[in-house]
Amino acid sequence: MELRDLEVLVVGLGRSGVAAAELCLAHGARVTVNDSRSADALREPLAVLDGRAQLSLGGHPEARFTAAQLIVLSPGVPPLPALDAARAAGVPIIGEIELAARFVEAPIVAITGTNGKSTTTTLVGAMLDESGLPTFVGGNLGTPLADAVRLGHPAVGVGGRVVLELSSFQLETVAEFRAHVAALLNLSEDHLDRYPDYEAYRAAKARIFERQREIDFAVVNGRDDQAMCRALAARSHAQKLSFAGARGDDEDAPGAFFAHDPQSGTALVLRLPQEEIDERYEASAMRIAGQHNRENALAALLIARVAGATPDACARVLSQFRGLPHRMQRVAAIGDVLFYNDSKATNVGSVVGSIGGFERPVVLIAGGKHKGGDYGPLRDIVAEVCTHVVLIGAAADLIAEALDGSAELHRAPTLEEAVRQAHQLARPGDAVVLSPACSSYDMFSNYEERGARFVEAVRALAVELGESQPS
Ligand code: ADP
Repeated sequence: MELRDLEVLVVGLGRSGVAAAELCLAHGARVTVNDSRSADALREPLAVLDGRAQLSLGGHPEARFTAAQLIVLSPGVPPLPALDAARAAGVPIIGEIELAARFVEAPIVAITGTNGKSTTTTLVGAMLDESGLPTFVGGNLGTPLADAVRLGHPAVGVGGRVVLELSSFQLETVAEFRAHVAALLNLSEDHLDRYPDYEAYRAAKARIFERQREIDFAVVNGRDDQAMCRALAARSHAQKLSFAGARGDDEDAPGAFFAHDPQSGTALVLRLPQEEIDERYEASAMRIAGQHNRENALAALLIARVAGATPDACARVLSQFRGLPHRMQRVAAIGDVLFYNDSKATNVGSVVGSIGGFERPVVLIAGGKHKGGDYGPLRDIVAEVCTHVVLIGAAADLIAEALDGSAELHRAPTLEEAVRQAHQLARPGDAVVLSPACSSYDMFSNYEERGARFVEAVRALAVELGESQPS
């Protein structure tokens, strides 16, 4: 893509906005950065840009937008009248992923879905890396792609692999972006504070398949209740592969499946395209717990293998990966009560995924900022798995209404108080799980801070009770 002397407006100065601005500057573009925040609030990103870009701060002036030759729009920015005006004036509007991907020569592996993106993306990246391929892992997770491109990461060139976690917001602004392997892991309601309805959210996710060709792969969830994933992939020109569905009568049909054997336990089984025999990985070798993580691992194996990872490397990664922080992370044992930090569970589907089938009775700590959507799907799982639920945050009333009668419900004014209450309510052998089903922005700056505060509160309680060995 030719950027030299192009008038580029970068809208939104988060991490990916700064990375996009830097990439454009490195290619000789004339860059203006726009953000509704003031220079004072943007001290850090402005220090990085160090006077190399023009500033348009504290609002979104239409004239700046219509005068640009290219707009790079950050994923967090809501719809704006100035963007409509630019669109009407014919100014191309793309995102940082679209911009950066135009400089990528390596095959791109793109992963989206409501839940499990970071875990699956990390696993796929590790499997390709362990196979000896130059690999970049980033996007919505970690480093922006534009930084990898600007800094000449070896994975970006021919022979490398670029593995991207993509959010629905990032997918809204793709245009020519093409993934050699595109995966839609699952779909459930999320971000209904930003989208007019569930359908609009799903349509954004489906864009991951848009430019695929026959030589590419579209990987989708095969479970009955996830038929929507397959429907959205139907229009892709790529070869469709599904994971976690029932194996049909045709044993030779490619895909990834669970096989249960009373003696050897559960195995993750792949039948790769063009192969005549199954490939098996034992679930008992995995270190990450929960059915949802088995599903993530199954998807990761299928994605990594069609993207060029070797079976040995995949098996090694599966047996070594200990999971990411804030995702069903075991943080301590107090007496015979285990404490898990699942602060990243910011929607209903993620809570269903992580506590569904849990091997201990659960005292759940949930609540936070409401994002729209229905808490009803929590009812059955709470009735099945939870003895008590301690509710915190702005959404407490709404959740209480939805869960009425499914478990004993309690309220706590702070997370620290919720930890104390949950500990008192738990019986020996129970687990206390922070899995909020909401975003954290009512009480914390992000899910990491919420998780860290939970861990701190649990550890403080352990010390107070004379328990010395947080695990
Ligand atoms: P994402 O990047 O999509 O948010 P993560 O891998 O970070 O996904 O996991 C976030 C949370 O979602 C976890 O804490 C867990 O509660 C839940 N989760 C993870 N994988 C799945 C899955 N496959 N299905 C349902 N819930 C899941």
